[in-house]
Amino acid sequence: MKAAAIFGPGDVRVMDIEKPEPGPGELLVEVKACGLCSSELGMWVDPNFKTDDPIFFGHEVSGNVVAAGAGVSKFAVGDRVTIFTDRGGYAEFVTVPEDWAIKLADHVPYDWALGEPIGCAMNGTSRSGIEVGDTVVLIGIGFMGGLIQQGARLKGASRIIAVDTRPESFELAQKLGADHVIDAREGNAIQRILELTGGEGADVVIEATGKQGALDMATEAVRIRGRLVIFGYHQGGKRTIDVQAWNWKGLDVINAHERDPQAYLKGIRTGMKLLEAGQLDIAPLLSHYFELKDINHAFLLAKSKPDGFLKAVITF
Ligand SMILES: [Zn+2]
Repeated sequence: MKAAAIFGPGDVRVMDIEKPEPGPGELLVEVKACGLCSSELGMWVDPNFKTDDPIFFGHEVSGNVVAAGAGVSKFAVGDRVTIFTDRGGYAEFVTVPEDWAIKLADHVPYDWALGEPIGCAMNGTSRSGIEVGDTVVLIGIGFMGGLIQQGARLKGASRIIAVDTRPESFELAQKLGADHVIDAREGNAIQRILELTGGEGADVVIEATGKQGALDMATEAVRIRGRLVIFGYHQGGKRTIDVQAWNWKGLDVINAHERDPQAYLKGIRTGMKLLEAGQLDIAPLLSHYFELKDINHAFLLAKSKPDGFLKAVITF
């Protein structure tokens, strides 16, 4: 079968490897879609990363069950599933313990059912502590921000103020029902947020960019005793934070990440329920589709983010 492995920056190779066999309690899944994750981009751009041993990767996987190992009890051949995996989802087939698979309803397309990021966004939304009626500022409306924006509304936010710097993000935030969209390039985002909140700041500010500037903005945009939610994936060096401001404002600061697979699976189940019920709109968040053979090009676009880029998906 074909599977993609990364060897160094800009160096993802599609290789011919042996098709895996499902062990006891495992499923063999024929992959239909695997989302390209910005968390993988770090490796793809890192000039110091180089390996002779292939690293098979890809973890945002959906597909259908084509074989089941001994003792599998919850799934049958032909079931459509999304899975959580660390075994390399940029491949034609992948094995997975049945407990790490979640059944998909027939009407949910494979390319929508990207389990891990949806689960991550739903977990982040749950951790945000948004209460009915809250005003929420969301900084960063890409693929993940677009999911969180919808989650925030489902949690009961009465007002959502979206902040970004890219025209495609403004359009997306509006399409998904943001009440106000602020262009941070204009340099008066904090002033606008304060105007919109009667000078107090927002009840909840969610930082979903992984950038220093957004952390600083969040600190200023949140109200006294508000909640500052760090959802962005902060890579590439340390950040500085204004602890004095955090302390004075008495903020609840939440690092909205999970590491336990069971927590991921819980979030994925929540996301799939919402997808199935038509309460999450994924289609506007998916902008680019590639075949496996073009995966390097997909990474190149994920890095350069051309106009209109939100999320790349490899389909099979
Ligand atoms: Zn991911």
